[in-house]
Amino acid sequence: MTIEPWPRVLAEKQAEIKQQGLWRRRRHIGSMQRANVDVDNQSLLNFSSNDYLGFASRPELIKASQNASVEWGVGAGASHLVCGHQTPHHKLELALAEFVGSERVLLFSNGYMANLALNTAFLDKSDLLLHDKLNHASLVDGARLSNAQFKRYAHLDVSHAQRRIDNTEYDRLMLVTDGVFSMDGDVAPLNELLGLASARKGVLCVDDAHGFGVLGKGGQGTLSQLGVPVRDNVLMMGTLGKAFGCFGSFVAGDSIFIEHLIQTARSYIYTTALPANVVSACLAALRLLQDQHDDLHQHLGGLIDYFKQACAAENVPLMASDTPIQPVLIGDESASVDISDRLLSEGFLVPAIRTPTVAKGHARLRVTLTATHTQQQVDVLVKSLSNALKTGVA
Ligand SMILES: *Cc1c(COP(=O)(O)O)cnc(C)c1O
Repeated sequence: MTIEPWPRVLAEKQAEIKQQGLWRRRRHIGSMQRANVDVDNQSLLNFSSNDYLGFASRPELIKASQNASVEWGVGAGASHLVCGHQTPHHKLELALAEFVGSERVLLFSNGYMANLALNTAFLDKSDLLLHDKLNHASLVDGARLSNAQFKRYAHLDVSHAQRRIDNTEYDRLMLVTDGVFSMDGDVAPLNELLGLASARKGVLCVDDAHGFGVLGKGGQGTLSQLGVPVRDNVLMMGTLGKAFGCFGSFVAGDSIFIEHLIQTARSYIYTTALPANVVSACLAALRLLQDQHDDLHQHLGGLIDYFKQACAAENVPLMASDTPIQPVLIGDESASVDISDRLLSEGFLVPAIRTPTVAKGHARLRVTLTATHTQQQVDVLVKSLSNALKTGVA
């Protein structure tokens, strides 16, 4: 038997990806993250960032990061448990715990790694790990690493989740969901899910990458919005690279859970702590949010309403979302890329999201709105979207 050489095998796989309209490429962004970004020397209106509050380029955060670089250097030097846990890390953990109303908070290097920890650290073989079908890829990867029995329920479907539980033999239950779904923009029914978890003495784990900083009282997140405290059997994961404009993530919850993560979570233990300059920028982000939340929130909320109305007037088909994530459902993979390319040529950065990020045949344009956009920018986007849809899909 002849063994095919690697380059040939890979070339075949790549040809297949291209042929299915699934080829991915990176655009070279030549400027800071903001409403206008430079791409290949062209200035584009950016409707694709998760920097929902425009914090990634705020002078207050830049200054905090500069000052911290001078005081603390640019690297933590080691993992938290060796010698990387510096004063800024401690301060940020305390400040975030107070902000979200939990007993404790634990910083992670990013949301991906926090999700690996949440899905693996608490569960044994006899336990049940139950996910919403549309949970983020990092949660799914955590589940793949977990020893627990892994099952999924139909998106947002609490009664299906209940049936999954009833039809499984297990010791302990962990229910895991995105707060705001990253590619759909809709929100999980956290009260009902908590009821389900609590009735079985289970834990509810919420990945609030897209709700933290945006939804809820003062931007505390989706749990706050729905009146679910981060206490007892509730754990929250928040990211610091989206609305906070920086990098990193945290898990919030009762001490007994946080301490268990410190003792056992491999993606916490075996990695270098975040640099203190990033951590200090996150602290500045928290202060800025506490200072300016009402104005930012009012403007962003107004833009979301405005965008939805403008799309309705132009027959641009949106999905059911009240968050800054406003996907335009296209369906076909290649058509979504064609429309995204056409928008690009007209000065808009709006990515096509395709399988495997979303289900096959559910390709979409993922429009994200931020507090740095203006109504006038939304107007021109919707006009172009509408024209592109009329000519593009036909
Ligand atoms: C972005 C994202 C993550 C990963 O967070 P990072 O800090 O970027 O690693 C996790 N969950 C969801 C829902 C996300 O959108």
